[in-house]
Amino acid sequence: MELRVNSIDKTFSGFHALDNVSLDIRSGELIALLGPSGSGKTTLLRLIAGLDFPTGGAIHFGDEDASRKSVQERNVGFVFQHYALFRHMNVLDNIGFGLKVRPAATRPPKSEIHRRALELLDLVQLSGLEKRFPNQLSGGQRQRVALARALAIEPKVLLLDEPFGALDAQVRRDLRRWLREIHDRTGHTTVFVTHDQEEALELADRVVVMSRGRIEQVGSADDIYDTPNSPFVYGFIGESSRLPVRVEDGQVWLEDRTIGLEAHNAPAGPAELYFRPHDIDVLEGCGGCIAGTVTATRRVEARRRIELAVGGPGHRVEIELPADSPVAEGTRIAFRPRAWKLFPAH
Ligand code: ADP
Ligand code: MG
Repeated sequence: MELRVNSIDKTFSGFHALDNVSLDIRSGELIALLGPSGSGKTTLLRLIAGLDFPTGGAIHFGDEDASRKSVQERNVGFVFQHYALFRHMNVLDNIGFGLKVRPAATRPPKSEIHRRALELLDLVQLSGLEKRFPNQLSGGQRQRVALARALAIEPKVLLLDEPFGALDAQVRRDLRRWLREIHDRTGHTTVFVTHDQEEALELADRVVVMSRGRIEQVGSADDIYDTPNSPFVYGFIGESSRLPVRVEDGQVWLEDRTIGLEAHNAPAGPAELYFRPHDIDVLEGCGGCIAGTVTATRRVEARRRIELAVGGPGHRVEIELPADSPVAEGTRIAFRPRAWKLFPAH
């Protein structure tokens, strides 16, 4: 099922939770909504589900305008972080619940519900646990049962709101791979909400980066990471360094000298230079480079992160070097970014 979110606005007593959000989701796609807390991810997911209604704009399921349809009519399945299972029902009854409560006309026979629930239990790799109650399962197992329950109604669209948010890091990583496998096998159109960039970049076909009720950028993990199109995305995804600079005569200037970066297409005047700490070349001499004094170093996984004071007061950037680089505080280092982008100063 293809989904089209068309110029959606959502206000809560005057507060703009979503501001002119448009998004096309392809059939069978796994898409991640990624953004900091409060950016509007859950609100957008709830509007897609039909748990709430937009203030303006429309949501299409395929060719149909679903904006005013109920959750049941939209036939969506969802899993939330704290979408508790029914405590008094065993695993199999939990999975079959959505089918059991259907009106008689569309309800499958009991034996069919049983068969389908067992099949889903197998899909989520919990065969043998059908008689267990939720309090006899681990957190990860519970979320897998919740996913089986969501899939049982054969939803047109699967909506997941931080489903692994409450689990510890290793379990999250396992479930992430597992979810991707299930998705590839079942092919549901899936919208996955997370504030965890690693989760989004690893799991999704496309990532939708959100901030303050707006979509900042939509793209593959490579697009988002390699070509961030705003200071927000640069800062939110991965590590970035920022430096106030100036564009003049088609060159980037730091204080009173050029730094060896050409910027013929950028407007002249103050600008902000963004680059990734690891995406730099260290230079021996400095004929057009950024030079600074090491003010701090710290070990980050396989690399060493170096903080440099460069140029004017308060101008600090981080660069990354191999972990075995001997850099004492006070050392002078010259470098030039390999990949970088200029944004207007604000
Ligand atoms: P996220 O899921 O990205 O953390 P939400 O969609 O939950 O963000 O919330 C976006 C913004 O809308 C937040 O500022 C939140 O406080 C506000 N908001 C969400 N739901 C309501 C509501 N029912 N009433 C008032 N404000 C709300
Ligand atoms: Mg949320």
